[in-house]
Amino acid sequence: MSSQKGNTARTRPQKHKNSRAFKNNQNDRTNLIQMLNSLEIFGVCTRCKDQIEWRIKYKKYKPLAAPKKCVKCEQKTVKRAYTTACEPCGSSLQICLKCLQPGELVQKTVLSAAEENKQRQQLEAELGTLPERKRRTAERRIQAEMPIGATNQVTLESSDDSESDSDKEDRLSACCSEQEALDT
Ligand SMILES: [Zn+2]
Ligand SMILES: [Zn+2]
Repeated sequence: MSSQKGNTARTRPQKHKNSRAFKNNQNDRTNLIQMLNSLEIFGVCTRCKDQIEWRIKYKKYKPLAAPKKCVKCEQKTVKRAYTTACEPCGSSLQICLKCLQPGELVQKTVLSAAEENKQRQQLEAELGTLPERKRRTAERRIQAEMPIGATNQVTLESSDDSESDSDKEDRLSACCSEQEALDT
């Protein structure tokens, strides 16, 4: 029996084997999977690159919904899923963005203007999984070339298109006075 403890010398081959290799876009023709398949992984070591590519290949890649805090500069500048440091920190410290180890890193290929545009579309596709309102905020940031995290006060969580903070306060105080009126 192959399940017998200590029996490592099984002779029969595995029973169930896929006849065709797994295809991540077999039943998913969405923009996101197309973009992920052409996504360039850089700034990481080859081991981490393989890990991230494995996630894309087997449909395990989940893009970030909002920028994540960088473990080095502690700004919300991490835009790529599964990385822990932001690109500026990674290039200045010469470390892998995922495992933070120094060493041989995969370099970003030098892009032409057209390719640059394509990369931007990829990032936008990653942001496409955001709720509509947050996505519009992020898109405006990309268009304005404003680095996310440069404005500390306005984070993705607190920014709101429809009403300003003073509006909210007005509404809140109105609520409170109503409550007071009911109490008396
Ligand atoms: Zn950083
Ligand atoms: Zn690494």
